[in-house]
This record gives sequence, structure tokens and C-alpha cells, in this order.
Amino acid sequence: MDTDIDVIIIGAGPAGLFAAKTIAEQDIDFILIMKEEEPCQEKTCGGFIPSRCLDEFGIKIRHNYREIVGLRMKFPGLDIVRVDFDESIGVNTTRAQLGKTMHQMVPHYQKITRSGTKVSKVSVKNERVKVDVDSKEGKDSLTSKIVIDASGANPVCVRSSLVRERIPNSSMGYGVQYQLALEGSSQNVESVNDFYYGHEYSPGGYAWHFPRVNESVVGTGGIVERVRTDKKRVLEYLDNWIQNVEPISTELKDARIIKKEAAPMPLAGIVIPSYDNRILLAGDAAGHCSPISGEGIHYSMLAGKIAAQTAVESIRKNDQSSGFLERYEKRWKGEFGSDLKWGAWLQKRLTSSGSTGMGSTFLKSEKSQRVIAEMLVGMSSVRRAILSAAPSYIGSKMKR
Ligand SMILES: Cc1cc2nc3c(=O)[nH]c(=O)nc-3n(C[C@H](O)[C@H](O)[C@H](O)COP(=O)(O)OP(=O)(O)OC[C@H]3O[C@@H](n4cnc5c(N)ncnc54)[C@H](O)[C@@H]3O)c2cc1C
Repeated sequence: MDTDIDVIIIGAGPAGLFAAKTIAEQDIDFILIMKEEEPCQEKTCGGFIPSRCLDEFGIKIRHNYREIVGLRMKFPGLDIVRVDFDESIGVNTTRAQLGKTMHQMVPHYQKITRSGTKVSKVSVKNERVKVDVDSKEGKDSLTSKIVIDASGANPVCVRSSLVRERIPNSSMGYGVQYQLALEGSSQNVESVNDFYYGHEYSPGGYAWHFPRVNESVVGTGGIVERVRTDKKRVLEYLDNWIQNVEPISTELKDARIIKKEAAPMPLAGIVIPSYDNRILLAGDAAGHCSPISGEGIHYSMLAGKIAAQTAVESIRKNDQSSGFLERYEKRWKGEFGSDLKWGAWLQKRLTSSGSTGMGSTFLKSEKSQRVIAEMLVGMSSVRRAILSAAPSYIGSKMKR
């Protein structure tokens, strides 16, 4: 064991890379550890990044992206609704492309990164965090004053029995998707993203279609508990959707499946605690993913940045106690906690088929349709969307 440093960041997804960018701009020693050779190389993701996120973080994706200008939405018991926008609402791209773009934003990236290195265990002892790693060179340990764990939906700190219990299957999501090569007539797919909610298309979640350049991703999923107990296999929903449901089935009839992939996504709303002595969880590791859309890239970047700012302050004040780190949780809750809280509330209503009447209530008017579409692409907060579209009795419950 020969490395002792101020901060270790685990994981080079949007949370870890933005934590690294933020710390690299300060005079603090740190290391970024990731199991892949290149950031985001292996991540399963739809790859939709809202314009708001690109603008806020100054992200300029220059290759391999498609600008998205509209949405199609389908809710239980209602017809498909299409909402178009005057300008781009975001881009669909590959995660490898996003990883490449983000790592170029991290100063001294090569110097501070240990790639191809898997963290097997994290423990807190004698005023240090010990991080056990495994790489081509063999097993090793590093120590630091504080760790930012941005290792995704099944974080290594939680697996090491730190911070909190794992998210139960009743709140963890699971998504399965195909990458499709767009061939023949499928090359004409429009630049709109599809969101199909309800039991016809998923085991209690939603199905998506996000067209990229020369390829598309189509996927479906739901809460793990529902996926496991459902009579149908999750891929049956996806196959049925792309083969038999119009307009998708016609639009994608010449598309060819090139890859099948699956991954968990936290859909629990607010998951706390997100800190402990010397540990901060950020991004999916802290449950920072929208329960209503599965969108997590923007929240993860925000969380990575806030975790890094908190870590820098804790190093400067020489205090890594949980009492000091509590401010991290207050900050991220202030930034986007409301979206997670109300997203979890809305998810339950939009995916159920009508007992609460929410689907038909929500999409009655063009105004409501637009505000729901804006929410799904990160242009509007979830709370604003519910207040604009839901009946007044729901609004009055929320204001309490
Ligand atoms: C099917 C699917 C579709 C999605 N589509 C979208 C979408 O279109 N738009 C959107 O905004 N969000 C989407 N999401 C959610 C989004 O992908 C996540 O919220 C986001 O990637 C979280 O970022 P992160 O940095 O927290 O974690 P991740 O992106 O998961 O990154 C985790 C990092 O940690 C590393 N790591 C993990 N374990 C270890 C270890 N033991 N040692 C070292 N390194 C480790 C990984 O290699 C990786 O670098 C989707 C998710 C799924 C599953």
C-alpha cells in the first residue's frame, strides 16, 4: 500500500467525471478509479441528454449525435400524443461518445486516472478510507481522507456495508434494450423520442425508442420486483412493441438488432443517507435518477459537482465527519430533490392503468401534453408539471 491521497473518486460515469473536473480545478490531490479502459465504454443507456444539461455543463458533443425536436407519448387508455418543439430539446448519442467528450473536459485526465482497475472493497479505519483494488497488475490498496463513490446503481460502498442498505427490488428499476442498425426504410425515422407507458409495453414501467445516427435504441423495463414476478418475460414486451405496435413496427421494420443489453437503474425517488464518515455517494450510487423517465445523466453530473465541492471544503477544513458532510445531502436535495420525490409519486400513477384516473386527467389538453413532454426532457420540474396538468385537488395536496 503506497498511495495516500486527499480524495479518491470511484467510477468515471457522468457523476465521477464531473466530480473529477471540479476537483481538478482546485489544488487538491485526487485519483479517479474506473474499471473500464475508457469512460462509459460499457454503460447501457438510452443516451438522451437534455439541452438544459448540455448548456449548464458546457458540453459540446461534436460527433455521432442526433438533435431531437419532439416527443411521442402514450399513456394507458389514451391515444398517442405528439409534441413538437421549435428547437432542439437535446441529443441522442452513444455513451462512449459522451464519455469521450466529458473526459476531455477534465484537466490532466491521463495523470489522475487509473483505468482498468476495479474497486473490490471500501473500509473506513484510523482516519482514512482504505480502497482495495484489482487490476492487470494485481491486487493493491490505496488510502484517502475521503471517497466519492460514483460507481453506479450497485455502489461498491454499499456492497462493502457502508452508508446505507441496498435499494430494495420494489424500488430498483431494470431496463433491457436493443441497439438497432437503421437500414432500408428505417433510416427515415424522425428525430423524435418515444415514451410508451403502461402494461401493454412493459412490466409496469415504460418502453422507449431513441433514434441516434445510423442506429436506434429501443428498450423497456420496470421495477425489478414486477419484472421478476410478471408472467411475461421483459423481452416479450419489447419484441411485441417493435414488431406489432404502430407506428414503431412499420418505422423499424428494416432495422436490425446488433446488440442486446440490460442494466439496473434506481427509481426509488429520494434515497438517504447519501453520506457517512469520509464517504459521499453521487449519481446512480445515491439514487439520483428520475423515477418517471429513468433520466439520470443530468442529476449525476450535478451530484458529482456538488460532492466534489463538499469534498474540497472538507479537505480545506480538515473535517470529514458525517456531521460536516451532511451539507452535501442538503445541497443536492435543494437542487433536484423535489424532482425525485414527485417523480416517484407520479411514476406510481402514470404506470397504473386508470384506477386513479391520472392518465386521462393528465393529457386532456394540449397545454398539459406540452408540460408533461417538457418534464420528460428536463425542461420543466416534475412539481410544475403536476401542478399545471393535475386537477386542483392534487395540487392542493402537493402544496401542503
Ligand atoms: C437502460 C437504461 C437507459 C437509460 N437511458 C438514459 C437516458 O437516455 N438519459 C439519461 O439521462 N439517463 C439514462 N439512464 C440513466 C443513466 O444511464 C444513469 O443515471 C447515469 O449513467 C448515472 O451516472 P453515474 O455516473 O452515476 O453512473 P454510471 O454511468 O453507471 O458510471 C459508473 C462508473 O463506475 C464504474 N464502476 C462501477 N463499479 C466499479 C468498481 N467496483 N470499481 C471501479 N469502477 C467501477 C463504471 O465502470 C462506470 O465508470 C439510463 C439507464 C439505463 C439502465
